[in-house]
Amino acid sequence: MIIMNADATEQEIQDVIEAVQREGLRADVSRGEYKTIIGLIGDERKIPFDKFAALSGVKEAIPVETPYKLISREYASRAGFGEYNPTVEINNVHLDGNKPVYIAGPCAVESRSQLMKIAEGVKKAGADILRGGVFKPRSSVHSFQGLGSRSVHDAEEALKWLQQAGKEFDMPVITEVRGESQVDLIAEYSDILQIGSRNMYDQDLLSAVARKNKPVLYKRHFGASIEEFLSFAEYIAAEGNKNIILCERGIIPVGKGRNYTRYILDLGAVPVMKKETFLPVIVDPSHAMGRRDLIYNMCCASIAAGALGLMIEAHYDPALAVVDGAQMITPEELAKVIKACNNIHEMMLNQNKSNETQVGV
Ligand code: PEP
Ligand code: MN
Repeated sequence: MIIMNADATEQEIQDVIEAVQREGLRADVSRGEYKTIIGLIGDERKIPFDKFAALSGVKEAIPVETPYKLISREYASRAGFGEYNPTVEINNVHLDGNKPVYIAGPCAVESRSQLMKIAEGVKKAGADILRGGVFKPRSSVHSFQGLGSRSVHDAEEALKWLQQAGKEFDMPVITEVRGESQVDLIAEYSDILQIGSRNMYDQDLLSAVARKNKPVLYKRHFGASIEEFLSFAEYIAAEGNKNIILCERGIIPVGKGRNYTRYILDLGAVPVMKKETFLPVIVDPSHAMGRRDLIYNMCCASIAAGALGLMIEAHYDPALAVVDGAQMITPEELAKVIKACNNIHEMMLNQNKSNETQVGV
C-alpha cells in the first residue's frame, strides 16, 4: 500500500502508478477527501518498498499482509479513511445500516403473471428490491434450469419481465449470473448482479461481472471459510468495483444423521465480516433453512447479528412454485418479518446510541 502526501500532485500519483506497473503489478487507486492511497494488486513480496517510499509525493509505502486488503477495514483505516462505513447504493435504495434492506421475490421467474403478482405482493409487504432467478444453478440437469437456459430469446424475455416488474413497483431488481456468457445480457436488464454460492470460486466470472460496474451481490460458498470468501471477493474489488454486498447463505451441515435444515446458517460470520471489511453484509435465510417455518426467527436473528439486509424467497402460493416452494413465505408473512426486523433494528440503533461503546449494528 502506498500512501500519498495530502498535497501530492496528479503527476506524482501517475508516476507512482507507472512505477507499480513496471514491477508487474496493478494499482488500485482510492481517492479520499484528504489523501490518495494506491493499493498493489499482485504479488507484492518482491516489491522494493524503500524505493517506492523515496518517490516524489509518497508519504509511506508499506506491505499489507491480508489476502483481502482492498476490502479490509485495516487498509481503509491505515489510509486514514476513518470508519469507512459500509454503503452500497442501488438507485434510491441505500444499503448503509440506517434501515434494513429487504430483497424478496420468487426463486425462479416462471411467467410474467407469476412475477408481476409476486412483485406487487412483496412491494406491499415492504420489500425494497425484487429478486427472481432467470438462470438457475441446479444439482440435476433434469430439473428446471430457469427460463434463461431455454434460449437467448427466452432469457431476454424473462429479463424484460423482471425489469418491467421492477419499474412498475418501483424496486431495483437482482438476478443471478450463472456463467460468463450471460454477463453482458443480464447487465442490460438487472440493477444488481448476483453471483451464486456455487460460483463463489469462479474468478473469471467474478472479474467479468465486476467489470460491469454494477453492484454485485456475492454469496458465500457452502464449503468456504470466511477468509476464502473475503479473499475471492477481492477479485471483484481488484477490478475497481467495490460495490459488493456479501451474503451469508448457510454452510454444509456437520455430523451423521439429520440436521433438519438445508444448511447451517453461520450467523457468527456476519459480525466477523463486518469487522474485517467495510462491505455491507446481508443474510439469505431461505436457502440456509430450506423450510418456511424457520424463516421468521432466522430473519430476526440475522438482523440482531448485524445484517444490513435480508434476501427472502416469497410467493403468493408457494405450493405452485416449481423451485424451492418449501422455503418460500407469502407476502403476508413477509410483512410480519419486515415489521419485526425493523423493530429489532430500531431497538439496536437506540441501544447503541445510549451505550458508551458501540457494540454492533
Ligand atoms: C438463489 O439465491 O437463487 C440461490 C440459488 O442461492 P444460492 O446460490 O445461495 O444457493
Ligand atoms: Mn431458491
